[in-house]
This record gives sequence, C-alpha cells and structure tokens, in this order.
Amino acid sequence: MIEVKNLTKRYGDKLAVNDISFTVEKGEILGFLGPNGAGKSTTMNMLTGYISSTSGHILINGKDILEQPKEAKANIGYLPEIPPLYFDMTVDAYLNFMFDLKKCKLPRRAHLEDVCGLCKITDVRKRVIRNLSKGYKQRVGLAQALINNPPVLILDEPTVGLDPNQIIEIRSLIKKLGKKHTVILSSHILPEIQAVCDRIIIINKGTVAADGTADEIAKNITNEHKMTLRIEGETHTSADKEKITSVLRSINGVKYVRADMEREKGIYDYDIETDGKTDVRREINKVCRENDWNIMMLQLSDLTLEDIFLKITMGEHIDLNNEKKEKKPRPRINLVTNNSSEDDASDEKKSEESKPDEAESAGGEK
Ligand code: ADP
Ligand code: MG
Repeated sequence: MIEVKNLTKRYGDKLAVNDISFTVEKGEILGFLGPNGAGKSTTMNMLTGYISSTSGHILINGKDILEQPKEAKANIGYLPEIPPLYFDMTVDAYLNFMFDLKKCKLPRRAHLEDVCGLCKITDVRKRVIRNLSKGYKQRVGLAQALINNPPVLILDEPTVGLDPNQIIEIRSLIKKLGKKHTVILSSHILPEIQAVCDRIIIINKGTVAADGTADEIAKNITNEHKMTLRIEGETHTSADKEKITSVLRSINGVKYVRADMEREKGIYDYDIETDGKTDVRREINKVCRENDWNIMMLQLSDLTLEDIFLKITMGEHIDLNNEKKEKKPRPRINLVTNNSSEDDASDEKKSEESKPDEAESAGGEK
C-alpha cells in the first residue's frame, strides 16, 4: 500500500530524515515512535506530499507522490500535527468546505453524517470550531481526514494535548478506523503506540532504529548473552555464594559472574555474562547437579520495549542483532482486518457502549 525507499530530507545543512525505507501493507496500523525532533512529522509531510523530499521515492498505492501527486494524494487522509481548521467556521460549514475541496463524489449528506457519527461530533456540528474543546477540535480534524473515505490515514501525534479520557476515545477510534483503513500514526509516547499499533517503527535522529511488532523488536534486541541464575547451595550461607561464584566462573564461555541479592535465606541470584557464542546453560546444570545445588531460576535478561526505546533514544549503542534478522525476515503481521460489514457493525456497537460521550464540555465551555 505504501512504499518508501531511501527517503531523505535536508533543511539546509540539517539532515532531518536520513535515508529511511519501509513498506506498509494494506490494513496495517503502523506506529512511528520517536522522541521530539526525530523526523516523524517531516516523514509524514513527505508521505502526504505536503513537502517534497530531497531524495528517495514514495509510492502510495503504486502512485509516486511527486510524479502523480493527484492520484497518490487521493488515497490519503491527513491529520497534521496542527489540524488545518478554520476557527471561524462552524463544524458543518468546514466539513462541507472540505468535501468540496476534496471533490468528494459520495452522497454529501449521508457521508458527512457517517463521518460525524464515527468521530462523535454530531452534537457539535452547528458550533463554531473556535469554541470547541481541544478534544473536539481534534475529532473535527480527524473527520476532515476521513472525508472521501481515503484508504490511507496519516495521523501526526493525534492525542497530543488531550486529557486521559479524550486520549482513550481517540485511541479506540483509531483502532476502529484501522479495520477499514491503512493507518500510520506518530507519537513520542511508547504506551500509546503499543496500545494502538500492529507494528512499530522506531525513528531516531532521522533514521529507522527498529521495525517490527513490539514482540519482534524486543526479541531481536535481547541480551541473550546475559542471564540471571538463582541457586540454592548446600549450607544456605554466604560460603555457598563464594563457592558457586567461583565454579560458575570456571565454566567455558562464561565471561563474568557476580553474586547479587539474597532472594531467600541463603539463596542468591547470580548475574552471568557469556561470550555470546557459547550456550552455557547445560554446563551450568551439570555443575549444579555435581555439587547438589538446586537451580531455582534461570532467566535470560530480555529487554522490554521501553528499555529498548530509552536506550535507542538516549544514544546508547545496542546490538540490533541483524544476523538473526537476516535469517528470519520479519514475519508478516497476521491481519485481523476484516472488511465484512457485520463485523464492523458489531464493533461499532461495542465502541459506542464503551464510553459515554464526553458530551462535553459541549454545554459547559461556552
Ligand atoms: P518530530 O516530528 O519527530 O518531532 P520533525 O520532523 O518535526 O520531528 O523534525 C525533525 C528535525 O528537522 C528537527 O531537528 C527539526 O528541528 C528539523 N526541522 C523540521 N522542520 C524544519 C524546517 N522547516 N526547517 C528547518 N529544520 C526543520
Ligand atoms: Mg512532529
């Protein structure tokens, strides 16, 4: 659906986006995760044809955004970082204006009703945009992106500045939209991306630092050479600790052993680091058997996605374990996308029930 190849954007000397490539399949909800200034908005502005790239290609549904801008853009609904709203217009006037601007051929009344219903702005259609709360403004921005039912939705930090209730609403709306549309959404907040997206691209300093599902990213960036062992020695005293540490250190492939906390009376945790080539687990079992020690726990120290994100964005070097990636290409996401209308109808119901409308503020804030 979307193909990005070697995309680069320079602002003078400043390299905002540096040679990034990725593809997005139909029906995916892809999250761009990255700290402020990473290049998310710049990338989205290029994807939607708002700004041109310095080099590289973008194909939307097979159409090049620079060579066939009209055809390519017809596939996209865009909610930029700052929604393009006309504050003096009523919601209705604005959406009608956007309808005309996009030369939408769908039956006007029914389509606008659908879009307003979906974005839950039906009750504010007669109101002037300026007077709406931030949450409502954002939903009007989203409605604008949905006019003409574009197959691709690009949403730049759609929940920024919203309160927790509004955030939950927008997230559930995006999930729902993901059933019918291909969605790219950006955020600098990890839990947000984790909550909504099938797949994550971590962008840092204009480059793609990781690409995959949360699990895949976490798996591909593990510290398999690090583990924690909990061993019960025979005397349950610190004498065990000395002996166990020294025996573990003598195992071939073990580079480093440190006795850590006492977990239960006389039972300690040991942090072990290996050379990264030797699988030492069997040998560990063997020495424990020989010495009559009990292994109470053996855990490879996996990183959480949060650890990974922090490490990447703090500029710490982490091993992306490319070797593994090449052997096993990123498995395609198992799409739960379903275009059948029954499915959507039931989903519609669920989400209607899920929360009372924030019916706002609508009355209160005049
Ligand atoms: P993000 O959306 O991830 O926060 P941006 O894409 O807005 O990041 O910005 C990426 C980098 O490009 C930043 O360092 C920003 O200062 C720079 N940048 C963005 N727009 C411009 C511009 N019009 N002129 C010069 N530098 C820019
Ligand atoms: Mg941005």
